[in-house]
Amino acid sequence: HQAQAHARGREVLLHEPAGGDPDKLTLVKARGSLVWDEAGKEYIDCTAQAWSNNLGANDPRVIEAAIEQTRRITHARPTFHTPALLELAELLVSIAPDGLDRVGFTLHGSMAVEMALKLALRNRPDARHVAVLHDAYHGRSITTMAASWPHPGNAFGVLQPQFLRLPRPDLYRPRPGLTADQDTEMTLRIVRDILTKGTEGPVAALIYEPIQGNGGHNGFSARWHHGIREICDELGIMLIIDEVQTGLGRTGSMWASDHYGIEPDVLVFGKGVGGGFPLAGVLAKNRFAAFLPGDDQLTFGQFPISVAAGLAAVRAIIDDGLCDRAAAHGEYATERLREMQTRHPLIGDVRSPGLMVSIELVRDRVTKEPATTEAHAVFELAQERGVIFGESRYAGLGNLIKVKPPLDISRDHLATALDVLDEVLTEVEK
Ligand code: PMP
Repeated sequence: HQAQAHARGREVLLHEPAGGDPDKLTLVKARGSLVWDEAGKEYIDCTAQAWSNNLGANDPRVIEAAIEQTRRITHARPTFHTPALLELAELLVSIAPDGLDRVGFTLHGSMAVEMALKLALRNRPDARHVAVLHDAYHGRSITTMAASWPHPGNAFGVLQPQFLRLPRPDLYRPRPGLTADQDTEMTLRIVRDILTKGTEGPVAALIYEPIQGNGGHNGFSARWHHGIREICDELGIMLIIDEVQTGLGRTGSMWASDHYGIEPDVLVFGKGVGGGFPLAGVLAKNRFAAFLPGDDQLTFGQFPISVAAGLAAVRAIIDDGLCDRAAAHGEYATERLREMQTRHPLIGDVRSPGLMVSIELVRDRVTKEPATTEAHAVFELAQERGVIFGESRYAGLGNLIKVKPPLDISRDHLATALDVLDEVLTEVEK
């Protein structure tokens, strides 16, 4: 089955890697945190399908809402409302960090980031610059690729806006001779310096992920978040927090911004908000709500089926207490992984919070040399045994194993996934 599908894919799909991807599955069914391939094999899904099923896959409440909306009206032009659109907007504002009281919808995280950038430039028409961090990931549209790492320059033509790359502190690999705290302080000083004098014109916005996802699960200290807020306030720079990956309960709070006490001017959401349907958007302070008619209307920008599914999904995330469940599962998983770290020399670092869990594999705990081939072997062996872990072969570091299942995974499935991880680590370390 699989070999045939790979051969057909290479013939016809634009996005098929040239060498083929032997781990690629053809999925036919999903329920909660389980998926099945064409041959009927069952897997525990620790990726939540690109970290987007925060609520388990095919939740009946979401499917019902989508079917009901499909029967009524599938599509409405972007200048019209549907009832669910207003309900979802009000619900999101009610759970948003303080002060964010306007919502804009679109279908992809990349487009939501572009919406946030457009909003920033609309509010600072004199500015051409937007500040971004090293190892950032903000999407795969041309503009958001330019904002991400590695910087593709202007391979796709002239890009607007111009991205000003800022250094970031590193909690696992601070600058030589510095503690993580000192590294954070020094990086904040450098950032302040760059933003004050390092540009040819004003900076409209600074955008970053509260925990960098695809760039390697790089977290920051509370001091960093507060320091950046201070710098942005001082210099009149809009602070955009990209919560496409961290939002909707993933980190054990509704938003990572809540977890760290960040006060964004604009928050970008996506992935988990649609309950498995494409949906994303922006929450912004009222004073920035400055779109003019025509600025940001996409044909399917507020696609009614996605919005109806999203309304059911966000309600379910709240009703089922999934933020607390993610926090509890995350504590359990990190505790088990820390215990494994005492037995497995490959585990250099264990990262959380919530179910944004990962381990970084290293060949040597002192030099922290990335164990990339080993990580890939772990991923492959686990998949053979029916557990799909997240890895980052195509984005960021290739030596992370990510444990990011749906937030409502059962404790049994989570325990089984970690047992399998333990076994395959032993095998790879042989
Ligand atoms: N921002 C972040 C932080 C992301 O992780 C992603 C997706 N991995 C995006 C933006 C882009 O989202 P999408 O793939 O839905 O365009």
